[in-house]
Amino acid sequence: MTPATTHPTTAASEALFERARAVTPGGVNSPVRAFTAVGGTPRFITSASGAWLSDADGNDYVDLICSWGPMLLGHAHPEVQAAVADAVARGTSYGTPTRPEVELAEEIVSRTPVERVRFVSSGTEATMSAIRLARGATGRDLVVKFAGCYHGHVDPLLAEAGSGVATLAVPGTSGVPASSAAETLVLPYNDRAAVQAAFDAHGPRIACLITEATPGNMGIVPPEPGFNAFLAETCRNHGALFISDEVMTGFRATAQGGWGLDGAVEGWVPDLMTFGKVMGGGFPAAAFGGRSDLMAHLAPEGRVYQAGTLSGNPVATTAGLATLRLATDEVYAHLDATARTIREAASEALTAASVPHTVQTAGSMFSVFFSGEPVRDFAGASQQDTTAYAAFFHAMLDQGVYLPPSAYESWFVSAAHDERAVTTVLDALPAAARAAAT
Ligand code: PLP
Repeated sequence: MTPATTHPTTAASEALFERARAVTPGGVNSPVRAFTAVGGTPRFITSASGAWLSDADGNDYVDLICSWGPMLLGHAHPEVQAAVADAVARGTSYGTPTRPEVELAEEIVSRTPVERVRFVSSGTEATMSAIRLARGATGRDLVVKFAGCYHGHVDPLLAEAGSGVATLAVPGTSGVPASSAAETLVLPYNDRAAVQAAFDAHGPRIACLITEATPGNMGIVPPEPGFNAFLAETCRNHGALFISDEVMTGFRATAQGGWGLDGAVEGWVPDLMTFGKVMGGGFPAAAFGGRSDLMAHLAPEGRVYQAGTLSGNPVATTAGLATLRLATDEVYAHLDATARTIREAASEALTAASVPHTVQTAGSMFSVFFSGEPVRDFAGASQQDTTAYAAFFHAMLDQGVYLPPSAYESWFVSAAHDERAVTTVLDALPAAARAAAT
């Protein structure tokens, strides 16, 4: 594939975007895709292979979004494609239990501290269901979350959320009932005193605290050492459940997800976890899981109802299973090395162009903040120069590199990012850094 030359033609994408806007709000089916924060026309992608995306105008791009995380092995991996083709040939949905569901659940249980899982179709459903389960199991209503963490578009979890909510600078969202928002306590991330004060004031009413294992939806903001362990202990002391949202980090940040970065080392275990993205291998599959006794509250064993027509879909679970089985230690070593090369080169180019920036990482996930200070919470993330990011983004795009169209997102690499793809990124960085400086 040939990367786009500078200022690629975008006529076909523009025409499609115009048609899309007539029939779909904003022309997109998920807000950040609309390029609102960076301006310009979103590229309409027609195919993808390995580390590359091809658009409707025939331009090729090195993909540093990887479908916002899922494509750990790269696009159209031949073994995943073959497993999916085989599954499709046997029918696409039965509404009955199937073998791939069992095998994917076993794979997830073997890699994480959860004892049992239930499959759903999106990360949003996973966090929504985990919260219902926490409320059902504890008989309490309040939910604690952190500003800048995004857990999907669930009513009580949209307050001061990251990702698209942060990108579009909407403080919350209309359509969420006040009663729902009133049951959510939003705290600053990495702030132990705020957590302690919330539990001191409301402890007996708190059903659960939900946090991203390592926040990635305000850019990457790692927990300060011991912060997740402190959250787990605080929850335990107050009879609340600790939910670690690994929809983004699961099987991505490390082989054991975000938990592999601290929980596996420090020895604490969340009560419930949520997964999505990588475990669906590019198909709509997600899950929530946890201690066996807690999961027993779910119907049909228990009284917390949760269900889904396409939950555990055989094609999606086959794709997820094939992906996880191919995600070996060598794959994670490659992701780590590739991420390090790109983030170090980005920092070098920005330093050479005198652009204030901070690079933060969580395993192979990383993001570049366009501000000179380390970022420890959403207030810090919001200090960055989003105009500089937009200039940087477009200069990279013009040179054939597709970054997230928002400064509040992680960058993702895949097992398919080879020397040619990485060289394309490295070659584009100096001019993009100069564009960000002007
Ligand atoms: N939780 C986290 C941490 C996420 O990053 C996301 C999506 O980006 C979600 C939940 C929601 O997942 P989905 O978009 O599949 O509904």
